[in-house]
Amino acid sequence: MAYNETEFDTGSHWLPFTPNRHFRKEPRVFVAASGMHFTTHDGRQVIDGISSLWCVGAGHARAPINEAIKKQLDTLDYGTTFQATNDRAFEAADMITALAPGDLDKVLFCNSGSEAVDTALKLALAYHRARGEGHRNVFIGRERGYHGVGFGGISVGGIPANRKAYGTSMLPRVDHMRFIHDPAQAAYIHGEEPVWKDDPLLELEQRILPLHDPSNVAAVIVEPVAGSAGWYLPPKGYLQRLREICDKHGILLVFDEVITGFGRMGTNFAADFYGVVPDMLTFAKCVTNGVIPLGGVICRGKLYDQMMKTDAPEHMVEFFHGYTYSGHPVACAAAVATLKLYKEENLFARAGDMGKVLGDAFHATFKGLPNVVGIRSLGCAAAVELAPIAGAPGKRAYDIFIDCYKRGALVRPAGDVIVIAPPYIVEKPHIEQLVDTLAGSIRKH
Ligand code: PMP
Repeated sequence: MAYNETEFDTGSHWLPFTPNRHFRKEPRVFVAASGMHFTTHDGRQVIDGISSLWCVGAGHARAPINEAIKKQLDTLDYGTTFQATNDRAFEAADMITALAPGDLDKVLFCNSGSEAVDTALKLALAYHRARGEGHRNVFIGRERGYHGVGFGGISVGGIPANRKAYGTSMLPRVDHMRFIHDPAQAAYIHGEEPVWKDDPLLELEQRILPLHDPSNVAAVIVEPVAGSAGWYLPPKGYLQRLREICDKHGILLVFDEVITGFGRMGTNFAADFYGVVPDMLTFAKCVTNGVIPLGGVICRGKLYDQMMKTDAPEHMVEFFHGYTYSGHPVACAAAVATLKLYKEENLFARAGDMGKVLGDAFHATFKGLPNVVGIRSLGCAAAVELAPIAGAPGKRAYDIFIDCYKRGALVRPAGDVIVIAPPYIVEKPHIEQLVDTLAGSIRKH
């Protein structure tokens, strides 16, 4: 029997990002997982249609990762005391930079996507200040962007619900570009990049940059593909143009690849998929197959080199930042084993191939169903957008999520969008099951 099964409705655990009142009426608790499936407290199998939280790329309970963790625990269980580190952290960093785009060749580790974003924002400020440009302290994010829950992340993030409980206690100098979705131009996207008639970045050039003066802007941060908002895809050429604009004004470009990193686009990073190299790239989630917390920032050598050029004596810290668990050997051992497994099983290419199967199934099955107003597929993820219920935004997708769960499939509601982004080991019958279950729920709601 699962721990305290009779009390999931009253227990002490306050669930994050979950309607707790509803959860307590209908607890959904996992007690085991393997491959594509969870086992629930009431003994059912639920197929994992969203790689848990976009993080379990290689599927659950993979022996090589678990073995590596056990071995590391028995060898060196901790080893990031500041002023000293461990060999696994070097190994993981080298493997990560070997996969990274362009000349991104230094890794600062942390434990989550939120910490990675705050680390990148702090590094941007510190870098400019070290170059004598401390006036560069404006950050530009994008409407509906999700960058975690630190104060930096919710400030540059563009989801009002993540901010409204905290009033004006945000980073002070932040602006947001318009969102990258226009239903009139890109409601249905089937495995290709959306093409827009107008230029979504004109606003950045004509309103936002002149307003702040580009010489005051430290960094622009975007998710290459807006994941948490509901898998919204950048218009063709958007990221290239953004790179050009940033270069023109000496602004750092940060890609938040917490979701898109390590295979979700069928490539190492979305940066590779779109052929654009940022100055910093944040990652977490799939780097350890979700098994153990690990995140980080991969940055261009020029940022590291600049910070090393300090006039301060050699015993002084150059960038005053870090966490007790930065580069934790057990997390890094998990990363090393995970990245080896992705390579051995060629899982990033497989993600791209199975993503096409998923996209085909979405378009063939959902187009024309009641309340479906958009379908987007690219990489190993697909989204179906639903008309909101009047006066109750998000309720239709939430009800569909609950119904799918009861019928054995974990899908992801995001506003009035449902996303499926399975582990890269997904097989065709899994996709059929996920899509059939979702279609049944859409018809009912
Ligand atoms: N950035 C992006 C793009 C994300 O999708 C997420 C999490 N979904 C985060 C940051 C935050 O990551 P974490 O939950 O690990 O703090």
